[in-house]
Amino acid sequence: MRDDTVYTYTLILTHDADRLSLRAFPLFSKSALSIFKRGLWINLRRLVEGEISVLNYFDSILWCLFYPLVRFGLVDDPWEKAVYDIVDLERKYGARSTFFFIPFPDSCGRIAEGMPAPVDRGVRYDLRKYGHLLRYLESQGWEAGVHGIDAHISAMDAKAELDAIKRILAGKEKIGIRMHWLYKTDKLHQNLREAGFYYDATGETDGSAINQSSLGPHKEKGLWRLPLDIQDGSILSFWEKNFSRETALEVIYKKMQKAKGEGGAVTVLFHTDVLRFPFYWKDIYEAILRRAALDCARMISCVEYCLEKDEGINGGDFK
Ligand SMILES: [Zn+2]
Repeated sequence: MRDDTVYTYTLILTHDADRLSLRAFPLFSKSALSIFKRGLWINLRRLVEGEISVLNYFDSILWCLFYPLVRFGLVDDPWEKAVYDIVDLERKYGARSTFFFIPFPDSCGRIAEGMPAPVDRGVRYDLRKYGHLLRYLESQGWEAGVHGIDAHISAMDAKAELDAIKRILAGKEKIGIRMHWLYKTDKLHQNLREAGFYYDATGETDGSAINQSSLGPHKEKGLWRLPLDIQDGSILSFWEKNFSRETALEVIYKKMQKAKGEGGAVTVLFHTDVLRFPFYWKDIYEAILRRAALDCARMISCVEYCLEKDEGINGGDFK
């Protein structure tokens, strides 16, 4: 059924599933240690700076204590539950989104041909065990796409990554990708076309919302290309801009305001594990959804945006 609502602009909502299972982290590992460090120490600092609430910090301590129980399956895994929580939250605001999943476990991939990527680029979860999650998302009107590891290296790699999702979502034809760690080469788009991808959401910028993407969403030689305008980590994490919540929202709202003035589109990335423990950025994400709903913006997945453009629906309304 055609939606006749007049929208002021479009938010394309996306989530990269870099960490899908807390349980998958080995008990005595560097990754587990970094979770404890963030949960206990960095979050204490954030509490003192007023960046998280006392309740959040309590929750953070609890999860550090629960970690062994999560590890042995005695308590629900907070990062697996996070995907369902995001769907519930977005549903409240009439929004839908895209989740990008890493096709292969423990594969760090390559920066370029012959140059291995750092070991910690590999992820701990095995997508084959999450078929139920991907099928749940698709059945509810959300989208599952590929979070690419080596698609920028060769068409054969890109095809292998596409096939990993196709094996889980039999019959799905229009599948998109965003590269993990936003890796790119000159061959990326040619590889994606040859492999049969529908769109690439890697973008040209890091999503720090400072640098304007030079081009909005557009199609080039049959492949849709979506920019990355706002990324959680680029704005909020202490190793990047480390903006306060207030400054981050100011920067984000500015970008949304600009899109409103132009009837344009803004692509937003929040990773699946950042809304609750250990980051607690849920209020920021929800503030974006709330503001967009008040603005009468449309909040949709990548594939919805591209399909509507291809089918000419709302074709003249948005850039
Ligand atoms: Zn990633």
